[in-house]
Amino acid sequence: MTKYDVIVIGGGPSGYTSAIYLSRDTLSVLVLAGAQPGGQLIFTSEVENFPGFSKGIMGPDLMTEMETQAKRFGAEVMYSEATKVDLTGEIKKVWVGETVYEARAVVVSTGASSKMIGIGEEKYIGRGVSTCAVCDAAFFKNKKTFVVGGGDSAMEDTLALVKFADEVTVVHRRGEFRASKIMQERVLSNPKVKVLWNSEVIEVAGEPKLSSIKVKDVKTGKITEHNLDGLFVAIGHVPTTKLFEGKLELNESGYLRTTMTALMSDTKWRVSEKDMWLDGYPTMTSIEGVFGCGDVVDYRYRQAITAAGMGCQAALDTEKYLENHK
Ligand SMILES: Cc1cc2nc3c(=O)[nH]c(=O)nc-3n(C[C@H](O)[C@H](O)[C@H](O)COP(=O)(O)OP(=O)(O)OC[C@H]3O[C@@H](n4cnc5c(N)ncnc54)[C@H](O)[C@@H]3O)c2cc1C
Repeated sequence: MTKYDVIVIGGGPSGYTSAIYLSRDTLSVLVLAGAQPGGQLIFTSEVENFPGFSKGIMGPDLMTEMETQAKRFGAEVMYSEATKVDLTGEIKKVWVGETVYEARAVVVSTGASSKMIGIGEEKYIGRGVSTCAVCDAAFFKNKKTFVVGGGDSAMEDTLALVKFADEVTVVHRRGEFRASKIMQERVLSNPKVKVLWNSEVIEVAGEPKLSSIKVKDVKTGKITEHNLDGLFVAIGHVPTTKLFEGKLELNESGYLRTTMTALMSDTKWRVSEKDMWLDGYPTMTSIEGVFGCGDVVDYRYRQAITAAGMGCQAALDTEKYLENHK
């Protein structure tokens, strides 16, 4: 059995940032980076909005840099998936298969993934398909784009795209949007936006980049083919929290709750602002000594820089917690 000060579960921007801070603070740190070391940015090409890289940086290169930086201060990185956790006692236990690792604190940074249509569009990610308009809209200047979805995320993506693209067609499988009225009005009143109601994208094609899609009208069954430059899939996200179900408090959509998100939630304020910022641990989950950061917590911003920022917050809270629980 190997014992660490902290086990970080997740090898994306939030996990690696917390590992950098924790190991630089001379704590012993194990990072379990899972099946997708580097996290979501591994699938993207150029990242243009991460500060410090004025010419942009390729997603996989940015993540290799973060991992190297964490290792520089002594963090151990294993490309293994945590398969079971027991977070109840003072000593936390994390299993990788049959092997158990122990630590005084755990940082959960297992991220999230975008829901996909399920027609094989993943293979075009970074080559015409995107799940993040805030990240990628600027690459579609004067281009023809489509957005799939009908909720607030789809409306936000559409509004991000109209600043750059010549045409944005929203494909929605129902006859009306689910999004808030104000967002719908902004989208529908924009002259660049067209909507294909009661429609589903059923096929994607092109080589090596996405160049066309087939759309089916679900009422008439009619299928039409459209040439395009970009397809933005905006049908929701799934936080990676299965491992923590019944063990840590999750919100109604499955995101990990921390003191900070509980405080921000519109239903109840669990703690006072003073308690949280001055005396408490804003990134602590429902269990003492277990902290959460990045997209597994954040259902709003979902950016590499916000995930990294939250990773820093979780590390500072963990350091303070360990200091107070020697
Ligand atoms: C195609 C694409 C392009 C993007 N482009 C940009 C961009 O240009 N700029 C930007 O700011 N943001 C961008 N984003 C968003 C950004 O990638 C995310 O906000 C960010 O990666 C979230 O970081 P994270 O560390 O919270 O989680 P993730 O990056 O999701 O990492 C989660 C990590 O947890 C690991 N994990 C999961 N379960 C387990 C387990 N049981 N055990 C061990 N490890 C586990 C995974 O292997 C992974 O390493 C993009 C996202 C996508 C999908």
